[in-house]
Amino acid sequence: MRLVSVFLGCVLAWSGLAVETAAQSAPPRLVAPGVWFLLGDSAKGYSNTAVIEMKSYLIVVDANYPGRAKELIELVKTLSPKPVRYVFDTHAHGDHSYGNSTWTRAGATTLAYAGVVDEMNRYEPTRWQAAIGRREDVRALGEANVERPRQTFAGDSFVLEDQTRHVEFLHLGWGHTQGDGYVWLPKERILCTGDAAVNGPRNKLWDASLANWPRVLEKTIALQPAFVLPGHGEMGGVEILTGQRQFLLDLYDAVKLQVDAGKPLAEIHVELPEQDSNWVPKDLSFDIEAEYTELTHHQPLGAVEHVWR
Ligand SMILES: [Zn+2]
Repeated sequence: MRLVSVFLGCVLAWSGLAVETAAQSAPPRLVAPGVWFLLGDSAKGYSNTAVIEMKSYLIVVDANYPGRAKELIELVKTLSPKPVRYVFDTHAHGDHSYGNSTWTRAGATTLAYAGVVDEMNRYEPTRWQAAIGRREDVRALGEANVERPRQTFAGDSFVLEDQTRHVEFLHLGWGHTQGDGYVWLPKERILCTGDAAVNGPRNKLWDASLANWPRVLEKTIALQPAFVLPGHGEMGGVEILTGQRQFLLDLYDAVKLQVDAGKPLAEIHVELPEQDSNWVPKDLSFDIEAEYTELTHHQPLGAVEHVWR
């Protein structure tokens, strides 16, 4: 089954038009000694960034779009004179990975869970080509495809450590995308989530496993992070994880109840409880359609064929 509306929903979200409060880029915030959080400008479609200082180098979490990658390359120099050795893509979406080639030209090694490359191989260069049509920063690269992460890890985890810090890169299952990766600093109790958890009504569901995503978030909650650095929106604590999970559970349950009662999509209406309000977009219809599609196809939404133009 072909789903043209998938494309429309994602374009709205990725272009920033669906974002209700346009957060401007703010000065870097020190989360712990040598760990910074940088809020991305959502009006430009940028995701958030974390910078992690090791003994002799830096790790950047999420390559971002090329325009933001260029800004970050300069910005990071004001935080530390150490070189950026690794740039981790939390997942394959353009606002997290399309800056890959910008970073590798600057000397960094892009790194990701192997599932990120699988997703790029599945969806690209179709999405990249669409981004060229609507984003000057992607168009200006003159490249025909997204550059794949140069280094990947299979299995559930990969570790970088030295005398000063221990950093874990985790894959916890199919949530926001099939290739979701997390960065976990167990000593500082800092978790970078990518879009598996965002702080606000900014999530895109179309590559997700909506049934499994809350179970993945349970694993992140079990880590008991003190600081959660989400893919979009302000940083915070574990409430970002529990809130994102509850919104997904409540939406899933509300749509399932009506699907099980035999209602067609056009007749499904959802009122979510007040506790979910931070995650509810003005127009919930794309999210309802996403849930409906997964439930009626009996497979993860991301496994249902999407049409991208
Ligand atoms: Zn995403």
